[in-house]
Amino acid sequence: MAKILIVAEHERGRLKLATLAAAGFAARLIAPGGAPAAAGLSSFEILVLGENIGPVAEAARVWGAENVLVADHAALREPLADRYAQLVAEIARERGATLVVAAASTFSKDILPRAAALLDAGMLSDVIDARPEGDDFVFQRVQFAGNVIASVQLAGFPKVLTVRASAFASPPAGLQPSPVLAVPIDPARLPALAQFVARDEKAAARPDATEARVVVSGGRAFKNSADFERLVGGLADAIGAAVGSSRALVDAGITANSLQIGQTGKIVAPDLYLALGISGAIQHMAGMKDSKVLAAINKDVDAPIFEVADYGLVGDVYELVPQLIERLKKTG
Ligand code: FAD
Repeated sequence: MAKILIVAEHERGRLKLATLAAAGFAARLIAPGGAPAAAGLSSFEILVLGENIGPVAEAARVWGAENVLVADHAALREPLADRYAQLVAEIARERGATLVVAAASTFSKDILPRAAALLDAGMLSDVIDARPEGDDFVFQRVQFAGNVIASVQLAGFPKVLTVRASAFASPPAGLQPSPVLAVPIDPARLPALAQFVARDEKAAARPDATEARVVVSGGRAFKNSADFERLVGGLADAIGAAVGSSRALVDAGITANSLQIGQTGKIVAPDLYLALGISGAIQHMAGMKDSKVLAAINKDVDAPIFEVADYGLVGDVYELVPQLIERLKKTG
């Protein structure tokens, strides 16, 4: 029976929410509104790679996967693309996967194209929808900062896809726990051309913007890093939100690259996106337009962001944001 292999992403012992969106995509293809599934797809499996990943595998068991496949080995401690890609390709072949799927992210951008090459498979990134057509699928993917939605068919099987997490809800949780199958790893067979040297990451006390329910994002209105941290960071901390930034601030060296939201940054879809001093350029909107509620503060009443915002406040962020923080602190 044809199946979907989902490559899970995790960080610090936690399964990323985006992986659940990939599972939601798979669940939809298997039972698209009760119609017979195209390409004979009948189930999906979740593959977790890494070291000491028991808790991640456990967390992956309640989402309806036929099996959770666990490749747990010291050689997989870091997500080195050549090793992970080889394993993904081998496991996809062994399991008879028709589709290999992961949430679109830096992790999957690194690994899935290599796996696709090893599988001699066609690959599509940023898929936002799929509909069955005969024994195959027509996929929709966004292009040109979301201005074009292309309908694409990929010849042959297997196919390799990354899906936009913001486009798919996770399947219902709490299903019968999936069996866990250990994948034997022979480290001698893994490529060793790339070696892990070091990870340079800032300890972040705040949630990641791709995982958070609320994102507070700042733009060129903020003149320096201290102001950004005090106002954007301060407001985010007052409501337990993640912090984001427009590219204008990243390019000016005011904010870290990892905060950038947009076409060339992170794609987010929180319940609430607060845009502070951001004009609403299409390249920024491409990264947050799927937010459920968009609220903006901008001193220019004609700023494009107000055309799409659900709530807008015209004013100076240097005056309004401290008042907001103060008010939120008082109301707890
Ligand atoms: P601006 O457009 O300069 O807007 C600043 C806004 O702040 C204005 O609306 C102004 O009225 C308001 N303002 C100023 N002072 C105050 C104040 N005191 N109080 C209240 N409001 C104030 N951009 C991204 O963000 N993410 C991307 O991923 C991205 N990718 C790109 C990829 C390409 C190929 C290209 C060409 C561009 C990309 N950009 C991206 C850049 C994008 O085009 C815009 O330049 C950028 O988003 C503008 O950032 P901004 O809104 O902060 O700045």
